[in-house]
Amino acid sequence: MWFRRDLRTSDNAALFHALKSCRRVWCVFVFDTAILDPLPRADRRVEFIRESLVDLNGQLRALGQAHGRDRVQLLVCHGEAVPSVVQVARHLHAQAVFANHDDEPASLVRDAQARGELAHHGIMFHTFKDHVIFERQEVLTQQGRPFGVFTPYKNAWFKQLTDFHLQAYPTHKYALALAPPPMKPAFEGTSTTTPEGVWRQHWLPDGIPSLAQLGFENTNLPTLRLLPGSAGAATLLEDFLHRMEHYGQARDFPAIKGPSYLSVHLRFGTVSIRLLARTAYTMHLQGIPGAMAWLNELIWRDFYHQIMANHPRAMSHAFKPEYDAIHWEKGKHAEALFAAWREGRTGYPLVDAAMAQINQTGYMHNRLRMVVASFLVKDLGVDWRWGERYFADNLNDFDLAANNGGWQWASSSGCDAQPYFRIFNPVSQSEKFDGEGRFIRRYLPALAGLTNKAIHAPWLAGPVELASAGIELGRHYPWPVVDHAQAREKTLQRYAVVKKPLA
Ligand SMILES: Cc1cc2nc3c(=O)[nH]c(=O)nc-3n(C[C@H](O)[C@H](O)[C@H](O)COP(=O)(O)OP(=O)(O)OC[C@H]3O[C@@H](n4cnc5c(N)ncnc54)[C@H](O)[C@@H]3O)c2cc1C
Repeated sequence: MWFRRDLRTSDNAALFHALKSCRRVWCVFVFDTAILDPLPRADRRVEFIRESLVDLNGQLRALGQAHGRDRVQLLVCHGEAVPSVVQVARHLHAQAVFANHDDEPASLVRDAQARGELAHHGIMFHTFKDHVIFERQEVLTQQGRPFGVFTPYKNAWFKQLTDFHLQAYPTHKYALALAPPPMKPAFEGTSTTTPEGVWRQHWLPDGIPSLAQLGFENTNLPTLRLLPGSAGAATLLEDFLHRMEHYGQARDFPAIKGPSYLSVHLRFGTVSIRLLARTAYTMHLQGIPGAMAWLNELIWRDFYHQIMANHPRAMSHAFKPEYDAIHWEKGKHAEALFAAWREGRTGYPLVDAAMAQINQTGYMHNRLRMVVASFLVKDLGVDWRWGERYFADNLNDFDLAANNGGWQWASSSGCDAQPYFRIFNPVSQSEKFDGEGRFIRRYLPALAGLTNKAIHAPWLAGPVELASAGIELGRHYPWPVVDHAQAREKTLQRYAVVKKPLA
């Protein structure tokens, strides 16, 4: 069993099929150097994965012990994914490798290569849907085409839903098949030269490698109360269940605890999507308000995943091709605006507070993701791909399908995106969703002394008010980098190229 974005034992499709159909099952995780090498040395996600593997290892051990099997453990490799998996499978004389689908374009290439190389050694590669409720081409229009609009997709999603789709895979029933690893790893610490260069491959015999062994540093993850592993997901879910009834009203206000904060767990599979969707659906049937609104978000996740599977080109291009003709700001000016956005120095408090949130914690509230994405693209005129990349590098829950979907929604180039002429006003968004400035004050303490009215647009405050709040614009807090009204006009012109010629 090759674990990837499914770091849990309970309700895991591939693990279930492996345990049910094989006499002995070994569980493997690879710290893939192709993914790790380009990352900065301090990355919260690597720490999250590492800690989640400790949790997974504990789950495997407990499952084994419950079936009288001692010494069951996760085998962890550090190397390139495909050669590592092939080598472990051969060493264990495995007949088959089991894994769950991962539809990101690069992962599909990796899995095609794995399938080929395993086959070369007479080893089967079995893969399963696990990460979403419906995948790929399971939900199609009546004409048999993938949906490009959310609401009809959602209606078809519900039409197709049966108990089976929400049922858990009872992995624990078959845990007898879990096998302890051979006493000595065959290739600990070896390195091999391949035509592509030298690759490292270790099977780390003492359990889970430390961050330092992986070449990484500790991050501030432990201070964020973002508990990793299935245990962390269970804690968050338990907490959210009490708040579900308020989700519909609370979800848009970043200063309050409205959403579930489960996205990072969905990303790494430390929680099962079937468990979450089943919980939401059941609560909806029990009449709990908010449950349907939350399920709706889980369906958006499915929606964007099927977009990725059916339109992989959209992961690097505008979903609507005419939007690739837009001329974005370029050169030093654009670089400077982008730096101000990244560093939270735009002079628009809600935008800057949101950027402080992602920079300090790796999380950003959904309403704020929409606000800052719109601001980058439609106020600063910067290519949405720059922002997409920055989110990809910095979000703990970075997920190619959802991130690309979110950015293309904001830039209006996506399927079912907001129309290009709808441009968020960052000040009215702030007044509406952080009326008392509580979120802004949390992340921009320099502005704490401003009144609730002035905090959304400090440049409009009078000199007396600024002075009494201890703020000198340009010194304690920046002047706005652009004028929203002018930027809006410029954006409408910029987007004119996408207007369809009148018939
Ligand atoms: C520009 C932009 C970029 C985004 N990038 C990502 C990303 O990289 N990874 C990511 O998981 N989400 C992304 N989202 C979607 C959304 O912002 C996050 O899923 C959400 O904020 C996570 O917080 P939560 O778990 O508390 O959400 P909740 O409100 O509790 O929602 C529950 C779950 O539903 C899913 N979900 C919610 N909203 C969306 C959505 N709009 N699209 C797809 N799935 C959704 C998530 O898995 C989330 O965990 C992005 C949105 C925008 C506008």
